[in-house]
Amino acid sequence: IPVALAGRGYEVVIEGGLLDRLPQAAAPFLKGYGNGRAVPFVADTNTRRLYAPAMERALAAHNLKAEWFIVEPGEDAKSWRGLEKLTDWLLALGVTRKDHVFALGGGVVGDLVGFACAITKRGCGFVQIPTTLLAQVDSSVGGKTAINTAAGKNLIGAFHQPSLVLIDPLVLATLPPREMRAGYAEVLKYGLLGDAAFFAWLEANGDKVLAREPAALEHAIATSIAMKARIVAEDERETADRRALLNLGHTFGHALEAETGFSQALLHGEAVALGMVLAARYSARRGEISQEDAARATAAIAAAGLPSEIAALGLSRDGAALVEHMRHDKKAEGTTLPFLLLKALGEAYVARDVDLADIAAFLDGEL
Ligand code: NAD
Ligand code: ZN
Repeated sequence: IPVALAGRGYEVVIEGGLLDRLPQAAAPFLKGYGNGRAVPFVADTNTRRLYAPAMERALAAHNLKAEWFIVEPGEDAKSWRGLEKLTDWLLALGVTRKDHVFALGGGVVGDLVGFACAITKRGCGFVQIPTTLLAQVDSSVGGKTAINTAAGKNLIGAFHQPSLVLIDPLVLATLPPREMRAGYAEVLKYGLLGDAAFFAWLEANGDKVLAREPAALEHAIATSIAMKARIVAEDERETADRRALLNLGHTFGHALEAETGFSQALLHGEAVALGMVLAARYSARRGEISQEDAARATAAIAAAGLPSEIAALGLSRDGAALVEHMRHDKKAEGTTLPFLLLKALGEAYVARDVDLADIAAFLDGEL
């Protein structure tokens, strides 16, 4: 699937078993390596343990050697400290602007490597090899890279597009079910925001996707990425309302993540699932979709085993406290915030007339 950006376009390749064919699949970006120069790879301890051996074997057959930078799993790697260590490592390796660094992992590894490559020698290349469903359908494509700081998540970063994205759905076989469901929330997002037929397909086939049946899984990933690629090509830097559509469920979701301390209590995808329920219900409250449609969106989320009722979170604070988190959103403009709402199942839009006091009242009813 092409991501069509003038002069800097790239391919997203989706194929089972791709990792075993890495030397062929990534050939143009491996040219500078060999003859004593190892290929720089970044992974976390899980993806290194699970998938490095197969890739190293494939590389060795082409006289290539990998050199690894390993991080602990979890958000802590996406920090100033993690960034400093990685960029120091890249500089010590003598990485040049023509080189490509390979990111093997979920969104944490991908975001960290992308940002490190955006600033190392003012920009070197990188190849994304996403290994979580979330990274395969969302974070590996589009060029948003970032680290977290004391002030919040993803507030320091850059747009830096990868040169290639290699998606091997077979690696999802080892992904913990909860991480699989969290990634699936972003898949449902694509259906809800822009493709009613895909949403209906997911209602009928979501269980097959979650069970990692190859054909269903590949279809879900390809459909998601095709939409993301199209939207990114239309609005790379989110300056129009196009790319903002990808934030469906994220404003509510982000507030819930902040309220639960960005902890394992609520994964990003789970927060987005709840956020999409709230966006659908709030759209119904405004009369933009029917109560039946809001219930249908909720049912698809619940059927996937994702949280669909914020009351079940047992939060101790009220709607106003959640709205307070929204005021710190990157997209906040004074006392209002652009909200992603639904005109239909399969059609999101950016509402600019949303009153945060009304959101607080709505949330009080949901809590
Ligand atoms: P993650 O990278 O933390 O991975 C989740 C867990 O799964 C980790 O423990 C990891 O070791 C493990 N894992 C990864 N692949 C595995 C596999 N194949 N088998 C077994 N275990 C595996 O989490 P994530 O959900 O992939 O990414 C979350 C991050 O992505 C957040 O930091 C978020 O901000 C970022 N993100 C970025 C974008 C973007 O556009 N750049 C979009 C969405 C999210
Ligand atoms: Zn998301």
